[in-house]
Amino acid sequence: MLSRTQQKALKRIVGEGRFLTDEAARSVYAFDASGLSGTALAVCFPKTTEEISKLLAFCHNDGIPVYPRGAGSGRTGGAVPTVPGIVVSLERMNRVIEVSQKDMLTVVEPGVITGDLQGLVMRHGLFYPPDPASLSFCTIGGNVATCAGGPKAVKYGVTRDYLLGLEAVRADGSVLTLGGRTVKASSGYSLKDLMCGSEGTLSIFSRITLRLIPRPVAEGVMFACFSSPEGAAHAALEIFSMGLVPRTCEFMDRTCSRLVTREGGFPVDQETLGAMLILESDGSPGSVADELDAMKVACQKAGSFYSKVAESCEESNTIWSLRRTLSQRVRQLGYPNKVSEDIVVPRGRLPEIVGRLEAIERHFGIKIVSFGHLGDGNLHVNVLYHGDRENELIDEVIDSIFRETLKLSGRVSGEHGIGLTKRKYLTWELDVVTLGTMRGIKDLFDPKAILNPGKVF
Ligand SMILES: Cc1cc2nc3c(=O)[nH]c(=O)nc-3n(C[C@H](O)[C@H](O)[C@H](O)COP(=O)(O)OP(=O)(O)OC[C@H]3O[C@@H](n4cnc5c(N)ncnc54)[C@H](O)[C@@H]3O)c2cc1C
Repeated sequence: MLSRTQQKALKRIVGEGRFLTDEAARSVYAFDASGLSGTALAVCFPKTTEEISKLLAFCHNDGIPVYPRGAGSGRTGGAVPTVPGIVVSLERMNRVIEVSQKDMLTVVEPGVITGDLQGLVMRHGLFYPPDPASLSFCTIGGNVATCAGGPKAVKYGVTRDYLLGLEAVRADGSVLTLGGRTVKASSGYSLKDLMCGSEGTLSIFSRITLRLIPRPVAEGVMFACFSSPEGAAHAALEIFSMGLVPRTCEFMDRTCSRLVTREGGFPVDQETLGAMLILESDGSPGSVADELDAMKVACQKAGSFYSKVAESCEESNTIWSLRRTLSQRVRQLGYPNKVSEDIVVPRGRLPEIVGRLEAIERHFGIKIVSFGHLGDGNLHVNVLYHGDRENELIDEVIDSIFRETLKLSGRVSGEHGIGLTKRKYLTWELDVVTLGTMRGIKDLFDPKAILNPGKVF
C-alpha cells in the first residue's frame, strides 16, 4: 500500500490524470503477453525525463519498487509487477523528435510504436530494419530493453545494432547520457550496449537515438515447401553456403505450414507438407530476382517439392500477414493452454534442433509447434496442452527443450529476454562467475533493488 503522503507526492510529480490508482488501471497494467500478472499499487505516465528522474528519486528514497513498461507485449513477464509497486508506463512519451537524413538517424521517445517509426522513416527514404512480429503495437523502449529481433535480423541484425545513443535514468534519479550521434566510438565502456537487453533492471530509457540505413529500392518474397523440418533447415544452410544472405528466412513446422498454406489458398499437398520457409530478398530489382532464383535452386537441392515467388504486393502481404499472426492462429488448434518459448542455436545445428523438438513431442505425447527466424538459428517453440494430466508434464517438456538447446551450444533466449519465466534457465546457461558479474552490475546501478525487482536473476 502507498501511504496518502506518498500518493500525494507522486501525483505532484506527474500531475493529476497521469497517476492512477483505480482498480481498472491497476489490473490492466499488472500483466503482459506472458499471461502472468502481479500487483500494481499505481500506474504513472511520465512525459519528460525530469518527471522520470523525480519519480525514481522519490521511489529510491522510500524503497518503492518501480516497473518500467512499454506496450506490455513482452513474452517473459518482464513488465509484470512481481512485488507490489508502481508501474511506470512510457506510452505517453511517444514523440519522434528528429529524423536526420544527413546523419541517417532518428531521435525518439521510448513510447514510439516500432511500426509507426518504420513507416515514418520510409517516407524520408530511410529504413529502420528491426521488425519484431509485434511491431504494430510494441514500443522502441521495450525493443531496446529486450534487444528485440525479428525476421529481418538475419540480414540486418537486432535492435542493438541500431542503437547509437540513449538517455537513461538510473534508479536514484540521476540521468546518464550514453553514446551519441556517431556511427562509431571507442570512448570508454559502451554502457548504451549494456543497457540494451537490460530488461528494465538497470535504468529507464527516456530518449533513444537509432541508426537508419538507406531504404532498399526493391524487395521480393517467396516460400518453399518441404516434406520434413530437417529438409527446411538443410535448405537454410544451403542458401548461406552459396554466399546468399536473405533478408528473411522464416521457418514453419508441419502444423504451422499446413495452417498457412490452407488459409492462404496455396495449392500445396497437405499430406506431403512437413515444413515451409518464407524467404525474402531486397536490393535492386535485378539483384532481387537473381537472389530469389538462386534461393529457389538451393531449396530444390535440399528437397523442396513446391515453391512460389509472390507475384504481387497482395500475395506477399497475404504470406506475411499469415506469418505474423501465427502466434494467435495456433490458439485456434483447440488447446486451451500455450507456453511460448524462444530458443536460439548456432546455424549449423539447425537440422539437429528441429529433429530434437520432434523427438521431445513424440516422447512426451505433448503437442509442440514451432516457427521463427530460422535464418539466425532462432525458433519460437510453442507447447500446447489441455490441462489436467498434461499440466504435470509441461515443466519437464520445457526443461527438455532448453536442455537440448544448450547441448547444441544454443542460448535460452534469442530475442524475448529472460524476464520472470526464464530465470531458472539462465542459471543453466551461464556459469557462476558470469552470473555474479551481472549481479554486481545490477547492484552498482540499483543498490536498493527497486528497478524491476525479481527479473532476470
Ligand atoms: C504476437 C507477438 C509477436 C512477437 N514477436 C516478436 C519478435 O518477432 N521478436 C521479438 O524480439 N519479440 C517479439 N515479441 C515480444 C515483444 O513484442 C518484444 O519483447 C518487445 O520488444 C516488447 O516491447 P514492449 O514495448 O511491449 O515492452 P514491454 O513488454 O512493456 O516490456 C518489456 C521489457 O522492457 C522493459 N522496458 C519497457 N520500456 C522500457 C523503457 N523505456 N526503459 C527501460 N525498460 C523498459 C520492461 O520493464 C520489460 O522488462 C512478440 C510478442 C508478441 C505478443
